[in-house]
Amino acid sequence: MAKANGERHAFQAEVSKLLGLMANSLYRDKEIFLRELISNASDACDKLRYSAITQPDLLGDDTALAVTIMPDSTSSVLVVADNGIGMSHDELIDNLGTIARSGTEAFVKQMAESQGDDGQDEQSGQNEQDGLAAGLIGQFGVGFYSCFMVAKRVEVVTRRAGETEGWRWRSDGTGSFTIAPEADAARGTRIELHLRKDAREFLEPLRIRTVVKAYSDHVGLPIWLENESGQKEMVNEGSALWSRPKSDIDEDQYREFYHHIAHMPGDPWHTIHLHAEGRIEYTALLFVPDTTPFDLFDPVRRHRVRLYVRRVFITDECEGLIPPYLRFMRGVVDSNDLALNVSRETLQNDPILAKIRTGLVKRVFSELEKRAKKTPEEYASFWDNFGAVLKEGLYEDAEQKDRLLPLVRFRSTGGGERWLSLDDYVDAMPEQQEAIYYMSGEDPDALRRSPQIEGFRARGIDVLLMVDPVDQFWLPVISTYKEKPFRSVTQGAADLDKFAVSDEAKPDEADAAPPGEMDKLIALVKLTLADAVKDVRTSERLTDSPVCLVADEGDLDMHLERLLRQHKHELPEQKRVLEINPSHDLTRALARMVGQKGASEALEDAAHLLMDQALILEGEPVPDPSAFTKRLSGLVSRALAE
Ligand code: ADP
Ligand code: MG
Repeated sequence: MAKANGERHAFQAEVSKLLGLMANSLYRDKEIFLRELISNASDACDKLRYSAITQPDLLGDDTALAVTIMPDSTSSVLVVADNGIGMSHDELIDNLGTIARSGTEAFVKQMAESQGDDGQDEQSGQNEQDGLAAGLIGQFGVGFYSCFMVAKRVEVVTRRAGETEGWRWRSDGTGSFTIAPEADAARGTRIELHLRKDAREFLEPLRIRTVVKAYSDHVGLPIWLENESGQKEMVNEGSALWSRPKSDIDEDQYREFYHHIAHMPGDPWHTIHLHAEGRIEYTALLFVPDTTPFDLFDPVRRHRVRLYVRRVFITDECEGLIPPYLRFMRGVVDSNDLALNVSRETLQNDPILAKIRTGLVKRVFSELEKRAKKTPEEYASFWDNFGAVLKEGLYEDAEQKDRLLPLVRFRSTGGGERWLSLDDYVDAMPEQQEAIYYMSGEDPDALRRSPQIEGFRARGIDVLLMVDPVDQFWLPVISTYKEKPFRSVTQGAADLDKFAVSDEAKPDEADAAPPGEMDKLIALVKLTLADAVKDVRTSERLTDSPVCLVADEGDLDMHLERLLRQHKHELPEQKRVLEINPSHDLTRALARMVGQKGASEALEDAAHLLMDQALILEGEPVPDPSAFTKRLSGLVSRALAE
C-alpha cells in the first residue's frame, strides 16, 4: 500500500457524505471553520498539559502552548498550528477518517434533507437552511470536517508528543485521504488549508482578527496571528473566560463561550458564574440551555460539565461533579483544591469534589428558585425542556427533596395549559380536602376525559396529571407535601362524600334506584364476573360514565402496571375493582331488572359489557372480542325489538 506519496485510505461512508455536504454548503457563516480548528487546537493543548502532569518530558523545552494562525496570500494557504498533543499515525486515521460520535448518522441525514429541499422562495429557503445548518453543526460538533467549506485541499502535518515520527495527511475531501511520513514535523498539529477562490477573505488579517474575537476570545491560551514576514500579534484575550471577573464579561462573550462548550443550538437560558472562596475554592461557569439536547435520555445519563484543576483540563466525564438529574447543565468547573495529579478514576470519591458538588447543586437550586419566582413564564419553558430530568432528583437525592418539590410543575385537570406548583395546588384546595389528588397516564387530554375524575370535577377538585414516566418512580417515594398525602384518583376508595357536588352536576335524586336494588345488581355483577375483578362497588367518582376500573388501596397503580408490562416486567395478575355509578340511567335500569322473570341472561350479558366498557375506557384490550360483539348485538337487538 505504501507509495511515494503515502498510503491511501477511504473515508468512512458517513464522513464522505458529510464532506460532500460541507463542500457544497451554501451556509453563509463559513467562518465557523476557524472556530472549530481553534477549538481542536486548544483541546490538543489541554490534553498535552494534562499528560505532562505525570510525564513532564512530553513538554520538553516547548512549554508555551499556543495556537498560531498564518495566512499566506501568495499561495492562498491558511495555516492553523498548535504545539499540543499531536496525533500518531493510527490516531490520524481514526480521528480524521471516521466519526465516532453517536448521533452522527442522524446529523448527516438531517443535513442532507436540509440541503435537498429547495424552497419555492429562494430567499427564505436559504435563511431557513442556514439556520438549520448552523444549529446542526453546533449541536453535533463535526468540527474538523467544516474546513472543507472553505478549502479545496487540506493537509495536516502532525507529530504526537513523545514520538519521533511525524506524518502528513492529505485530502481534497472526496472519498479518500493519504498519509505519508513527514520528516522534521514539529510537535503538535499544523493544518494547512488551500483556500477556495471564494474563501480568500480568510487570508485578510482584519477578517481573521474579527472572527477570532467573535468566537474564540475566551480560549484560555494565546492565539497568535503571524504575518508573512514573521511578525506576531496576539488576537485574543488569552485567559480562560471563567477566570476573569464577572464585571469584565459581557453577554456576547458568555454566549460565545456557551456555543463553544455546549455543542448545542440556541443560547443559554441561564448563566451562573461563581467564584467560591473560603475553605474550598473553585470557579464555575455553568449554563442551562434553552433547548433540549438530543441525547438527554440516552441510556447513559452523562452530564457535559468539564472539570479543570488550576486551569488544566482534567476530564469531562467526572460523574461525581454534577448529579445526573442536573445533566442538562453545560459549562466548566475549575478547582484550586483538587490535586493536579488526581487520577480520573479516584476523583469520583474525592471528598473535595463532593463538597464542590454540594455547593453547585445548592447554587443551581437557588437560581432556579429565583427564576421561577421572578419570571414564571420563562421558568415554564425551562420546565418544558428539563422538568422530566429534574424530577429524577426526587428519588435519587432524598436530601434535596424539600428544595426540589417546590420547583416541580404540573398540569392539572382544571388548569388547561397552565403549569401549577404544589403550592399553587395546595393553596387552592377546598378546606375539607386533605390529599393532593393526581392521575397517572401518558396523554393529558386522555386523562382529562377519563371517567375516574368525573366526580372530582363535579366537586370542583383539581387533579394533577402525572404524564412523565419518571413520575412513577418518585411518587412511591415521596408520600407527602406540606403534610398533605399524594393520592391517586384511580386507586382505593374516593372518599368524596364530604364534598358538595356543584348543582348542575348533581344527579336527580328522585331517579336513583332504591338502594336495595342497586345492592342486588352489584351482587349479581360480582357473581357473573367472578375472578375477573377483585371487587364490585358503587362509586362517588363517576357522574357521566356508568362504570370505571380502579386499583384497590395498596395495589399497584394501573398506569404503573401498564408501564411495567410494556417494559416486560413479570408481574402477578393484578385484579382491579369495578366501580358502578348508581345514578346512571343504564345502571338504574339494570338494577330495576334484577329479580324480574327471564331477565337473568340479559343481566349477565350486561355485567360483562360493563366490564368490557371499563377496560376500553382504560385503553386496554377486551379479553374476548367476539363474545363482546355477540353480547352487544344481542342486547341492542333486544332493545330495538321492544
Ligand atoms: P471533536 O473536536 O468534537 O472531537 P473534530 O471533528 O473537531 O471533533 O475533531 C476530531 C478529532 O480529531 C478530535 O477529537 C481530535 O482527537 C482530533 N484532532 C483534531 N484536531 C486536532 C489537533 N489540532 N490536535 C490533535 N488532535 C486533533
Ligand atoms: Mg472539534
